[in-house]
Amino acid sequence: MNTSCKNLSCRNVVFIVILVFFFGLLSCNPEKTEIKPNILFIMSDDHAEQAISCYGSHLIETPNIDRIASEGIRFNNSFVTNSICAPSRAVLLTGKYSHLNGLRDNRDEFDGSQMTFPKLLQAAGYQTVMIGKWHLKTNPTGFDNWKILIGQGEYYNPVFNENGEKKQHTGYTTDLITDMALESLEKRDPEKPFCMLVHHKAPHRNWMPNAKYFDAYKDHDLPLPKTFYDDYSTRSAAAREADMRIDDMYLSLDMKLMPDYYEKETGTGGNARSAENIEQAWLNSYNRLTEDQKKAWDAFYNDINTKFKKSKLEGKELLEWKYQRYMKDYLRCIMSVDESVGRLLDYLDKNGLAENTIVVYTSDQGFYLGEHGWYDKRFMYEESLGMPLVIRYPNIIPAGQVSDNIVLNLDFAPTFLDLAGVQVPEEMQGKSLRPLFPGKEQKDWRNSMYYHYYEYPHGWHDAKRHYGIRTERYKLIHFYNDIDQWELYDLLKDPDELNNIYNETENRELIDSLKNELRELQLQYGDTQ
Ligand code: CA
Repeated sequence: MNTSCKNLSCRNVVFIVILVFFFGLLSCNPEKTEIKPNILFIMSDDHAEQAISCYGSHLIETPNIDRIASEGIRFNNSFVTNSICAPSRAVLLTGKYSHLNGLRDNRDEFDGSQMTFPKLLQAAGYQTVMIGKWHLKTNPTGFDNWKILIGQGEYYNPVFNENGEKKQHTGYTTDLITDMALESLEKRDPEKPFCMLVHHKAPHRNWMPNAKYFDAYKDHDLPLPKTFYDDYSTRSAAAREADMRIDDMYLSLDMKLMPDYYEKETGTGGNARSAENIEQAWLNSYNRLTEDQKKAWDAFYNDINTKFKKSKLEGKELLEWKYQRYMKDYLRCIMSVDESVGRLLDYLDKNGLAENTIVVYTSDQGFYLGEHGWYDKRFMYEESLGMPLVIRYPNIIPAGQVSDNIVLNLDFAPTFLDLAGVQVPEEMQGKSLRPLFPGKEQKDWRNSMYYHYYEYPHGWHDAKRHYGIRTERYKLIHFYNDIDQWELYDLLKDPDELNNIYNETENRELIDSLKNELRELQLQYGDTQ
């Protein structure tokens, strides 16, 4: 009896020890638990890495975006596969290149019947929410709740399409989008995980800041980028013929001058758009302001505009004045975006959601902040190919990681699905970024990326069609359609891409090898037309 009691008690102890060990393992490894992570996917529009302090910007401080990086991971080689607004969005939703998701340029409509990551998350029990700039022409699908700007949206007093119903709002759009996101978080079902896309219009053209940031940069000018006076001497015709130089900016729409402050609209940067149409577009934006907003706007800008009128600037002086005006307004718009990120992070902190929420900050692509004399995007050169990407997810990502691996907007959909424990469909062409999260160098990863831009000859800015490959060291670009010209850059020796070495005979072998790799990528992604 004593012996059997002893045996029983022994068995109990062993059983309890196994139980404790098993649950101990579970609690030490949250990835193994059934709790699905929330996803907060914050994206802005045209926000270049050069204007984010954790990417080394000398133009602006972005403490809240930096916080995501310092508490998570920053990707230094994050690229877009087609550098323009709507196509970038279609790629990130579908995890497929433009030629497969059907949206090659801003004229195309998104086919909302196709597979997207929000649809798959919704089916897996997520509350899915889309707030802000959508820009895909057809209404969102796969979201329980959506509130989107009409087309590009306005900076002030925007109209939103809210689940099919149009509503006029009063206020500054970046703040309104943030308010709506916070309201939606407040009203969520806490029993279910959420996936929320907060997609800002800012800092897209025509850069109208919130009055609270007018004073920033009031008393000092910004440095010109070192490639500001690029003469495109070694490039193909594509760079020279593009209509996107700071010089081409409109005095009305871009510089936001009223017609009585200049003699004649000298800007271009459009395609078959008359000066009158552009002036009217700016007047329409200004006339959206309420009387109070107009008062604040005029109180700040009228003095500057009067000085401009008196100075009768020309040539280089006018160009550099345009650069200052453009950059200061662009950066002021980003201040509101960074403030929005801070408000969202604060909400997660205050509601105990920080640990189990994946927070992403990115932009639909990069932008030229005067580099090569340009604004806008489109080209496969570094400034517009790059898209900032920082991710915080304390459950998996140790604080302060930096990755130099090549990652793409193609990877967002597979990453979110993988982290949510949802199977990634075969048809998605990107890769889950999860293996890169520990911050260790990942050798088994892509070492080159494929790019294809289509919006020519229609559309804005006359940037010719091109495709190409970027490896860790080289970039090979083929401009086609109404030209047939190649460019090759050695990013190690020439990080500013000023010296096209395609025509140097000693590079024949390198070019052949890059062309082979480019063809392999086209085959892999099915872009062989
Ligand atoms: Ca954009």
